[in-house]
Amino acid sequence: MNLILLGPPGAGKGTQAINLAKKLGAAHIATGDMFRQAIANGTPIGKKAKEYMDKGVLVPDEVTIQMLLERLGQPDSKNGFILDGFPRNISQAEALDKALSDRNSTIDAALLIDVKDSELIGRLTGRWVCRTCQTPYNVKSPQPKVQGKCDRCGGELYQREDDKEAVIENRLKVYREQSLPLIEYYSKRGRLKRVSGEQAIGNVEKDLLEASKATAGRVK
Ligand code: ADP
Ligand code: ADP
Ligand code: ZN
Repeated sequence: MNLILLGPPGAGKGTQAINLAKKLGAAHIATGDMFRQAIANGTPIGKKAKEYMDKGVLVPDEVTIQMLLERLGQPDSKNGFILDGFPRNISQAEALDKALSDRNSTIDAALLIDVKDSELIGRLTGRWVCRTCQTPYNVKSPQPKVQGKCDRCGGELYQREDDKEAVIENRLKVYREQSLPLIEYYSKRGRLKRVSGEQAIGNVEKDLLEASKATAGRVK
């Protein structure tokens, strides 16, 4: 199954994508994680992306789309994929549709995780992420079992540079201006499903699994 997770920064896309990918045997593809890895490795893509990420604005499409399409070309995405953080604007969505239709493939569902702004800021300022496997934790909940260490892999937890209030405001603005139109884009194509992200993590997951089955089951 090929799924897209839509939703504002802090909605829970990363948290859910990791769990769903495991359950569905699909590849978890997160463009934000790929950029942070590129920055850590000091690659040319990383150097370019950093200028934009530090400000909380989108990395240019020509860099992002090429990176994503190369990733989709890797063998693990043949068994299905979950996109987390891509597409973030209409031109990325169009490039994705075109690349998939060239391969006789398609998106089965675009799942929107709904969370109100006032809740997002608290989640993002309290977020800690594993440096090794990117699993997100929170000062409130979900907390790691051992402080500062990832439950899954024992990796070190850190706070992202762009999870500061001033940058968060900007990321939310960019989401509203550039990413919100994706809701209509996927709705028109009969792919959109909305799920409330303001519930326990396991309940969000249950709703996402149900929504993806319902959408994937209809005649294309
Ligand atoms: P996104 O990838 O959409 O930016 P994350 O998955 O990183 O979001 O989650 C943002 C923050 O909120 C993290 O600190 C995460 O632990 C926490 N979180 C995720 N899902 C929930 C939830 N259902 N309820 C409360 N906090 C959550
Ligand atoms: P979050 O999960 O909190 O929404 P991400 O890790 O997805 O954050 O993204 C962090 C930053 O990486 C974004 O603010 C943006 O600069 C860059 N980025 C990630 N994905 C994309 C994309 N599809 N297009 C452009 N920029 C992106
Ligand atoms: Zn980890």
